[in-house]
Amino acid sequence: MQAEIISNGDELTSGKILDTNSQWLSVKLTDIGVTTLYHTTVGDDLDAMIDVLRAAVERTDLIIWTGGLGPTADDLTRQAIAEGVGVPLEKNDESMRLIQEMFQRRGHEMPKANEIQAFQPRGAVPIRNPHGTAPGIDFTVQRKKPFKNGRLDFFRIMAYPGVPAEMKEMWQDSGQKSIQEMLDQLIGQKRVLRFRTIHSFGLGESQIEAMLPDIINRKHDPKVGITANQATITLRIASEAETEKECFKKIEPTATLIYQTLGDLIFGEGDDRLQEVVCRKLNTSGKTLAVIEAGTRGLLAEAIAGSKEPSDCFAGGIVLPPKQPIEPEEMIRRGRRLFNVDYLLLVGAYPAGQPDRNQTEKTFVAIVDARKTGLQESVFVLQNYPYIGHPDIIDDLYVKRAMDLLRKTIKEPASPQ
Ligand code: ATP
Ligand code: MG
Repeated sequence: MQAEIISNGDELTSGKILDTNSQWLSVKLTDIGVTTLYHTTVGDDLDAMIDVLRAAVERTDLIIWTGGLGPTADDLTRQAIAEGVGVPLEKNDESMRLIQEMFQRRGHEMPKANEIQAFQPRGAVPIRNPHGTAPGIDFTVQRKKPFKNGRLDFFRIMAYPGVPAEMKEMWQDSGQKSIQEMLDQLIGQKRVLRFRTIHSFGLGESQIEAMLPDIINRKHDPKVGITANQATITLRIASEAETEKECFKKIEPTATLIYQTLGDLIFGEGDDRLQEVVCRKLNTSGKTLAVIEAGTRGLLAEAIAGSKEPSDCFAGGIVLPPKQPIEPEEMIRRGRRLFNVDYLLLVGAYPAGQPDRNQTEKTFVAIVDARKTGLQESVFVLQNYPYIGHPDIIDDLYVKRAMDLLRKTIKEPASPQ
């Protein structure tokens, strides 16, 4: 099934706010096996809204609409859907009941203005809004002329409020489930879709792809997708089967092959980022860490402090300005003076002082055993990198390199067999 997401509001088309609803909904639709073909944004103009809706039902079977369900004059979604489909707008008793219930729970009388929110296109079903006033609209319409080419003989419009928190809550409360039920019915059997995502760092997307030519192939079952996000390369294995257990069973051999091929390049799965992996390893090995960074604007300390794993292992950091030349020895001295930790993680983005991206300026990442004294003996690893990369992402890249190096250096205690 293919979908179009329509977001509505002058605030969006004027550039005042960014349409995050469509992005969020697309991810959710992908998770349940629905492909989003179009994102459309339309201002608060009734004719334009009707146009957009009519175009959408011509080219997709599921339309998810957000925004314009409020009680004010610029909230035109109810009207646009009714006119676009060609049915009258009428007061819906169920919708009225839901709104009144909401005001009762808040301990207020329902203001007259909110009555308009009880109106729905004839034939539509209101969608419960647990914490807002405006119910959504769920409207399935039989097509007059059945479509060919795998398209359905009906289309379904689901309209949600624009407020992201309300929209998301309603999606979790009922939206996802009811689309899944519709899909199960269409296929005539229950299908579940499950994913496993494997993250790697250290090589580029095309290099990873070249290492796994047979897997990242459209015909491969289960399907494997590859995406790059700020130098983290993620492989996503998707499987569809009758049960969750079967899905993961189908995924397993592919995952094993990916692990065998990529080995140490893989740092984690699912919600794991490098900071979670690093903190977990430090925690299980009972070690502590401080960071000293020059030129990365405190991003390394921020990343580790923001880890979703408990960051008891993190003692703190020193953030140095980029253009002040500082030698690793001096960084280590300062770190030892301030922190009583096992590891010092160093990033010197511009050890020579002035960054100059026209030259391949050397930059370094180092891991230091803070318990030892001499410089030579205490440095585990010192890696140099040329200063190459887009200015917007290079600092983040160093931060990831530093965390990746630390992840590979920390020895975890052998697990008791
Ligand atoms: P309300 O009853 O609050 O008027 P509504 O359904 O009419 O709800 P809108 O008026 O369109 O929704 O939007 C309300 C607020 O929600 C906007 O001011 C904006 O902050 C946010 N919002 C709307 N659409 C989006 C979107 N697509 N992405 C992110 N935020 C949005
Ligand atoms: Mg509004």
